[in-house]
Amino acid sequence: MPDKPNTWDIALRQFHEVAARIDLSRGLRDYLSVPEAVHVFSVPVLRDNGETQVFTGIRSQHSFARGPAKGGLRFHPGVSIDEVKALSMWMTWKTAVVNVPFGGGKGGLICDYKSFSTREKERAARGFARRLAPVIGPEIDIPAPDVNTTAEVMAWIADEYGHYVGHPEPACITGKPVEFGGSRGRDSATGRGLAYCVDRYYHNKDRSLEGQHVVIQGFGNAGQWAAKVLASMGATIIAISDSRGAVHTPDGISATGAVKHKLESGEVAGMPGEEISHEELLELECDILVPAALESCITADNAPRIKAKLIAEAANGPTTPDADAILHERGITVIPDVLANAGGVTVSYFEWVQNRQRYYWPEEKVHQRLQATMRQSLDEVQALAEDKDVPWRTAAYMLAIQRVAHAVEVNHPDF
Ligand code: NAD
Repeated sequence: MPDKPNTWDIALRQFHEVAARIDLSRGLRDYLSVPEAVHVFSVPVLRDNGETQVFTGIRSQHSFARGPAKGGLRFHPGVSIDEVKALSMWMTWKTAVVNVPFGGGKGGLICDYKSFSTREKERAARGFARRLAPVIGPEIDIPAPDVNTTAEVMAWIADEYGHYVGHPEPACITGKPVEFGGSRGRDSATGRGLAYCVDRYYHNKDRSLEGQHVVIQGFGNAGQWAAKVLASMGATIIAISDSRGAVHTPDGISATGAVKHKLESGEVAGMPGEEISHEELLELECDILVPAALESCITADNAPRIKAKLIAEAANGPTTPDADAILHERGITVIPDVLANAGGVTVSYFEWVQNRQRYYWPEEKVHQRLQATMRQSLDEVQALAEDKDVPWRTAAYMLAIQRVAHAVEVNHPDF
């Protein structure tokens, strides 16, 4: 499709547009437009049928300028070097937007992980971890869960890393089970952080979330928690979808009821309400649209028909650059992914801090600190967007790129 360019091309285009706007020097542009390191590994995995199959593992470390690289590991057949590079660059901007002292990284294992047996999953994760161990660590690069990688996968990787360094080191990875050094509140952090952002957006307009109509595309971890927390703040969830279908209930859906239904039946279809198409869901009349599923689902094709007044991006990269321009022209505010979904990485940072301190916080403390971070970050992005009269994504990138560039200038002898 003409409006669905390669993910790395999108990441570069977004970077260069902002770099030009803030007059970034040629050297810094060149430096920040490539990852600091990209590791590609072969990962042999013994399958249950006795054969050994070799998969490709990737870890892209886009920037160490503000601290260790940070970002997820996705195990999926669609993973590519370009995708991982783009996602690692976006992580650099995301950690900088919320001002946590990390850089950006991302990794992946190219495999149909979902089809593996539990034993194969463990062998693949541990095999990849043994290859990763020399290039990750609490002060170097701290991976986290992403597509198809769970808290259990994180625990396997932490265990392998512990063997590599000769002692347990939970701070080498985040998203671990709570009993194994994970942080309370990490599970809900992305959806909760998004809800805190949206709440702050309305607060800054002297309005409340009470009665605002919300449409959620994608009902996994991020979408479910966004729905639950937004509903608890007074918003009305009027439509949700997952990969199999979409349901519209103009009078409102119970968020907890929907989560229960999805948990029990594995899908949102079958809930009370009218079944609609994926395309119709995105174009529903509503106040807030939360894309929480896939990349590039809001394109130049459907952007003219989007009726939401506010889009809060839970997913990474759900809006293409051409769609962004159309939405801006139409006066629709987009709280960009690097801000709206940064709750996850923020609580990952809290997890790393707790691991380093060997001192664990109550869940309420995690929520409070997350709320403070999201509110401050939203205020900073909004102030810059209004001051420079630019879309919020541009403002978030301006803030982030300036912070990263400043860190490079301060630390690197050649800049
Ligand atoms: P998940 O796998 O738990 O959920 C994804 C959901 O999207 C599922 O319900 C799936 O059925 C649905 N989906 C897939 N294709 C769809 C389609 N065509 N239409 C509608 N729904 C569809 O994943 P998640 O952790 O919730 O992540 C969702 C997005 O949020 C991803 O882009 C991810 O990168 C991003 N994100 C997640 C986190 C996190 O902490 N979970 C953090 C930052 C960003």
